[in-house]
Amino acid sequence: MLASEVIDQQGTLKVGNVPDPVAQRGEAVVRVAAAGLAPGAFNLLRMGAVPILPTILGHEISGTVESVGDPEREGLLGHRVRVHPLLSCGACDYCTTDREMMCAQNAMIGHAVFGPEAMGRYQRFHNGGLAELVVVPVANLDLLPDNLDFELGAKVHDFANAIRAYKLADLDKGATLIVTAATGAMGVATIALAHEFGVHRIIAVGRDADRLAEVEQLDPDLIRTVALQDDDGPQTVAGRIRAIAPQGAHAAIDYLPGGRGTSFIFGGVRVGGRIVHMGVNPEPLVIPPAAFSVNCISFIGTRNGTRKDAHDAIRLLSADPQRYSRLITHRLALDEAAVARDNFSSRAEPMWMAVVRPELTSADALGVDS
Ligand SMILES: [Zn+2]
Repeated sequence: MLASEVIDQQGTLKVGNVPDPVAQRGEAVVRVAAAGLAPGAFNLLRMGAVPILPTILGHEISGTVESVGDPEREGLLGHRVRVHPLLSCGACDYCTTDREMMCAQNAMIGHAVFGPEAMGRYQRFHNGGLAELVVVPVANLDLLPDNLDFELGAKVHDFANAIRAYKLADLDKGATLIVTAATGAMGVATIALAHEFGVHRIIAVGRDADRLAEVEQLDPDLIRTVALQDDDGPQTVAGRIRAIAPQGAHAAIDYLPGGRGTSFIFGGVRVGGRIVHMGVNPEPLVIPPAAFSVNCISFIGTRNGTRKDAHDAIRLLSADPQRYSRLITHRLALDEAAVARDNFSSRAEPMWMAVVRPELTSADALGVDS
């Protein structure tokens, strides 16, 4: 099969032929129709969280079941599915209480290792969706409703993450919500879901005023924007947020992957509010802990959504697919994955959600290094 392998920690991608995967007992091979591509994967590579190289990235996968390892599972053949990327033990306290991302055996298909005891599962399923075929546990397959296309099916994971962030933000109806990194995939997923969680006002925070203006067009009545500037300090950002919401926001959902913005939004959150951080930002907070206690503000860290969140996402997406399809701005061939990778870091052009469609790949992609 044709696959786009990442061969080093710098994220060098190499398109070429690799052996087809074969399903063992409890497994299925999926013919990939669409695979999401996310900048986080390349950040994790640089951080060393991708321990097996070369590997095939792509943890957001949809397609059709091509083969199964057990004769009694043949009823799955040909079905349209998405692959739930989380691997975990399924039996610990976390796994049995809708928190399986905290399991010691947590890893992600086509992505990275998180838990200290996760290598065993990851070793078998480290290859992901940037290929024509992928082998996964049958238990990780979710059937796609007929009206949910493969592209949205691949992106269910992003929406599941946003749903988890909303659940932790625990908003009342009519809430004002700050969303940071608002021009990225997670930001736009969160904004598109706002109506499901009773949000009355979104304050979209990002680094680029032009891109924020595009995001604002998703729902001009709902969204106001705040652009972070290089010489910003905590007061300037809080001031711009409070010019929109004088009482401050009820909560912030923060996806910033770096920088001081996570600290700067603190002053924009009202007394008793919540800051949900899913951005894996390594920059230290500059807020004294006393400011959290005096203002009764909760800072809640989380990594990603769960299977239950993914099922909620499938239900919400299939109720109104058009609303969410417009978030997918880029459809790429396997040999174009490097273009998306570079665009994520250079931000050369607006890219909300990108999917790789292996069927778009031309024959001359064979052997191309990029
Ligand atoms: Zn577990």
